Amino acid sequence: MRRRRLVVPSASLEGQQAELGGALHHYLCHVLRLKPGAELELVDGAGVSRAGRIERIDAASALIALDEPVPTAREALPRLALLYGLSRRARTELVLQKSTELGIDWILPVVCHRSVSRPGEPQRKLERWQEIVGQAARQCGRTTVPLISRPTRLSEALAAVSCVERKVLAAAGAPSLARTGSGLTGARDVVLAVGPEGGFTDEEVDLACQAGFCPVSLGPLTLRTETAAIVGLALVAFLGGRLES
Ligand code: SAH
Repeated sequence: MRRRRLVVPSASLEGQQAELGGALHHYLCHVLRLKPGAELELVDGAGVSRAGRIERIDAASALIALDEPVPTAREALPRLALLYGLSRRARTELVLQKSTELGIDWILPVVCHRSVSRPGEPQRKLERWQEIVGQAARQCGRTTVPLISRPTRLSEALAAVSCVERKVLAAAGAPSLARTGSGLTGARDVVLAVGPEGGFTDEEVDLACQAGFCPVSLGPLTLRTETAAIVGLALVAFLGGRLES
């Protein structure tokens, strides 16, 4: 049987044993219902991985005996980034969870002209988002957790992704991504931009195009923003070869 993979704080992977409390203890005992002796893989979300087995479990913590560290896995290519126009809370949170399952590496939330949601407390919001992607990473067995940038204006997000090799922007009516492939095969890194509920304004699309983004369609129908992000990422991952291994 495949070892269960858990994302844990880096510091707990430094010695011969890891003591897990709080939410991780709850997840091990009450969600996975594991018992002493169960084999695990503990990862820190930044590429460190340690195999181990549960030594003992008590009411508040679990003690895991760790094997020697193993060399870290090779990074999956192309690296995937999503520039996402902030939408209502539930939609944004769905996109964070699903894009994590699809292997996203970097999420850049952007406050667009038509964004209904404008984070009043960006730090709290960021912490909640990190919690969501952390849980999603744990559930789908990833060794890494996606990086989420602080919400910014579009111009700042465009500057942040200036070094990304291939840049595509989801826009209804543009040439079809499925048909053209937009040169994603063999790319090292790709960023996909998706607008909020009301879409990008023409000025925002122009700004993104000046920054090297190529408009692409995801099909003939108008998709909701969260559908566009999920379908767009699946297509980008497929065209870039991320779904092959
Ligand atoms: N209210 C807008 C639609 C916005 S949909 C309108 O009626 O035009 C939100 C975002 O989803 C868009 O900004 C775009 O990035 C993406 N999107 C929706 N449907 C799409 C499609 N068929 N192709 C590409 N992108 C799409």
